[in-house]
Amino acid sequence: MRADGLRVAVVGAGVSGLAVAILLRRRGVRCDVYEKSQALSAIGAGIQLSPNGARILHDLGAEPSMRRKAITAGAIETRRWDDGTLLSRVPHGALCEDRFGAPYYLVHRADLQACLVDLLPPGRMHLGQAVSRVVEYDDRVELCFPDGGSTTADVVIGADGVHSVLRGAVVDDRPLFAGYSVYRGLVPASAVPSFADDPRVMFWLGPGRHVTYYPVSSGRTIHFSAVSADPADADAPRSSPAGCADLVAGFDGWHEEVTQVLGSAASVTRWGLFDRNLSARYRTRRVALVGDAAHPMLPFLSQGASQALEDAVVLADCLTASPDDVPSGLRRYEALRRPRTAQVHGRSRMRAETFHFSDGPLQRARDADLADGADLAHLDWLYGDAVGTGRVLAAR
Ligand SMILES: Cc1cc2nc3c(=O)[nH]c(=O)nc-3n(C[C@H](O)[C@H](O)[C@H](O)COP(=O)(O)OP(=O)(O)OC[C@H]3O[C@@H](n4cnc5c(N)ncnc54)[C@H](O)[C@@H]3O)c2cc1C
Repeated sequence: MRADGLRVAVVGAGVSGLAVAILLRRRGVRCDVYEKSQALSAIGAGIQLSPNGARILHDLGAEPSMRRKAITAGAIETRRWDDGTLLSRVPHGALCEDRFGAPYYLVHRADLQACLVDLLPPGRMHLGQAVSRVVEYDDRVELCFPDGGSTTADVVIGADGVHSVLRGAVVDDRPLFAGYSVYRGLVPASAVPSFADDPRVMFWLGPGRHVTYYPVSSGRTIHFSAVSADPADADAPRSSPAGCADLVAGFDGWHEEVTQVLGSAASVTRWGLFDRNLSARYRTRRVALVGDAAHPMLPFLSQGASQALEDAVVLADCLTASPDDVPSGLRRYEALRRPRTAQVHGRSRMRAETFHFSDGPLQRARDADLADGADLAHLDWLYGDAVGTGRVLAAR
């Protein structure tokens, strides 16, 4: 069978689902996308895209719109929570582009999603279609919907996020509450005037908490996320409006720039943070998982979207290289992606501890490590080309 004889169903139209659908459609594969929301709308506000993800976006053709809408981070700075002592400043900017072939982007999620939607060749996007179950046969997979309807495909790609339904076809587990809540909001650019000349990511580390903020939307606004240990809240709704005054009160004693940023928010949303233990399997014979459905990770390494883009490239390659033998294509996808994503997943969890040390010997050792690792060479393992993205170009 040629690749254009394959019928693929993608479940979920987030970063991973859109990216894999773009790549498959460009190769002539018949690819339907089923998305439970009635409209495509990005949840959350800001996202950092490291060069390993940015390079894939460029290869897909998104460079002009990313250059227009995103901010290029000049550096990543980490500071101490109370007195603002600079713990490390890793220069990015042009150095990052020279070393890794793409910048470190800071972008509003809606802008990233619009970029991907613009790149999606016309085709069958089914909005308001929540998949409730899949049934796998030797030669096909059946997708079932809550209204009793169903459809079939040769391959189903589960791109339905951390609370994935499709994951149930591959592994029997549940999302794990990490014991943290994240409070996210947008504030005017005037809250951090230094961003005008020095756009960068700011991390502030303190006992049991950390805060991240950076400019988005061509520098007009700043996105922040404030993470705090919240062991009691595992059963709270996944997201809910939060009180701005309560948020600021929780950061009493923190550096005035931090409280100024948090205090400038008109509205704040709280999210519980979840991941899952890494599964040995990312696929069955005809169902493959990508992005957060495959390897949901804590956001402390800012890698979820970039890893989702890497998955999309490798899966599209593996599927179209052996359209006659779907199970072996999916086996190869899993073999290529699991070691890489295991490393990133593990390091993300590790940061949940190291970011939140109380002041003392562990915190001092961490700060010394941060100071030692303040150059881009320490990021070769992460920002380097783990998927051979040159191959994407050949498919355009
Ligand atoms: C606080 C926070 C900050 C983050 N910051 C960063 C960052 O700076 N950089 C970074 O790279 N990553 C970051 N991430 C992670 C990143 O957001 C995710 O890894 C990424 O969005 C995963 O994309 P995805 O397409 O796999 O899943 P999602 O974006 O979750 O998309 C899943 C899609 O599937 C749909 N869906 C769900 N169930 C069904 C169903 N049954 N049927 C049909 N459709 C369904 C959903 O509506 C959704 O559209 C962060 C995450 C959090 C929580």
